[in-house]
Amino acid sequence: MASSTPPTHEPVELASFGGDGSLAAAGWVQRVNPARNDELVGRVSTVDTDGVDATVRCAQDAFGSWSVTPPAERAEALLAAADAVAASAGHNAPLLARELGKIVADCEGEMGFAAAYLRHAVEAWQRVGASRDVDDELGRLRVLQVPFGVCVAIVPWNAPLILSILKVAPALVSGNTIVVKPSPLAPLAVTQSLAAIAALLPPGVLSVLHGDAEVGEALVGHQLVRKVAFTGGGAVARSVAATAARNVTPVVLELGGNDAAVLLDDAPFGEELYERLVWGTFLTSGQVCMAAKRLYVPESRAGEFIEGYRAAADRLLVMGDPLDPEVTIGPMASAGQRDHVLRLLDDARRRGADVHELGTVADGLVEERGWFCRPTLVTGPSMTGVDDSASVAIEEQFGPTVPVLTYSDEQDLLARVNADQHGLASSVWSIDEERAFAFAERIEAGFTFVNCHNRAGMSLRAPFGGTKQSGYGREFGDEGVAEYCQSHAIHVPAAMRLGERAPTESTAASAYPS
Ligand code: NAD
Repeated sequence: MASSTPPTHEPVELASFGGDGSLAAAGWVQRVNPARNDELVGRVSTVDTDGVDATVRCAQDAFGSWSVTPPAERAEALLAAADAVAASAGHNAPLLARELGKIVADCEGEMGFAAAYLRHAVEAWQRVGASRDVDDELGRLRVLQVPFGVCVAIVPWNAPLILSILKVAPALVSGNTIVVKPSPLAPLAVTQSLAAIAALLPPGVLSVLHGDAEVGEALVGHQLVRKVAFTGGGAVARSVAATAARNVTPVVLELGGNDAAVLLDDAPFGEELYERLVWGTFLTSGQVCMAAKRLYVPESRAGEFIEGYRAAADRLLVMGDPLDPEVTIGPMASAGQRDHVLRLLDDARRRGADVHELGTVADGLVEERGWFCRPTLVTGPSMTGVDDSASVAIEEQFGPTVPVLTYSDEQDLLARVNADQHGLASSVWSIDEERAFAFAERIEAGFTFVNCHNRAGMSLRAPFGGTKQSGYGREFGDEGVAEYCQSHAIHVPAAMRLGERAPTESTAASAYPS
């Protein structure tokens, strides 16, 4: 398909839902195609604060029975949900591509990963959700893993389904109910997928509410909400944490990053490395929290690296309409996001940096029709690195650009990598895996990839999350499921047992246990 093909799609119309079904519309969120701003992709109905309150109350009612539903039945429902998500990917992925600007293969991948994660959560719960019983000379102890109650998931736009499922699956398998608030920038495909899952569950167990900050705040601050999981930017995270604190509601915060990719001096520069690193940077037009956002290369090899990286990017990156199968990089999700990247590039140019355009443009693409932004590599003059203080090196770009920085001393390099306020992911590249792991251990980050970066380096079993201003709490792994269970200990010490099991000597009530 050529990028200039006119749109032939009817706009879709979807509703917020909770309790017994669709909710009355308080308003609408419209979404146009980021690749062709004259195409309306669809709209979803929003709710007001009364709608929030009614939905949370239904979710609380549903919690009563869902929390005592046998775990095997909950697991069965989630496995059916995994099948439903996988089965709907064929028609849902193109919708996601049109509302968000991600290429279709990327959208299909997200849906497949969401289905895999649903299955993983079921399996992980067997390990982390089981209760523990001990009855011995110290007494009798039962430690239950119990759900919190109504959970709230607030998600961003860049991977709306997987970022929702990372909260929905562990919450539901553990016996919680959950209300999801997607981003107004990607409300359609996620609503379709979550509606398919909700249809497999009792009413009120899974709800989806659309709206802006007011709806998000009303959800986070609701007195019946017992847990909040937020993925998004730092500014909103601070507000979410403050609102949740009013009711002492626990929060998981998955925030932005400024991932360093550290190429040690023995990293094998070559096609394989360049290709992995180009994808590590430019997947989803760079709009990925764990994209490589600062490339550190040895000063003595900077010229070689810049040349090799540019050549690989020129070969791999084809910018255009995300529905075109030849295209590998789509537009940005919003004009605001594109302008943010352009501002970083202006700042870099003002400081004397070189901004190298990468890749090619698909035939017939009219860039002005959408929020396109050419992928770029930012270097210092004459194939050197940029200054550490350049905005493009300090701020999360969340777009298709990346700076090269050079180093000559590893101790100093580590200090520069760790000087950043973020601590989400990072990567270390070396022919020597031991050396890479040893360097990785000293990076302040929640995740460090070795010889890869971004989604290719993830695993369902590996916990993911941030340190420092990239947030707290974890998703994936057993840890991501454990976030939705809390312990309830039931205990009688041996010395306090009554009846037949009573100890022969009585113990003073003031004594500390042994
Ligand atoms: P955002 O913070 O602007 O919005 C996130 C969500 O919060 C949206 O649904 C939004 O409508 C809602 N919201 C806005 N104001 C609110 C309020 N006052 N109370 C409650 N909810 C409110 O983020 P974004 O622009 O959608 O996403 C981009 C950011 O997300 C980037 O920084 C990116 O790095 C980060 N991100 C992190 C991860 C991760 O796993 N760590 C994954 C993806 C994206």
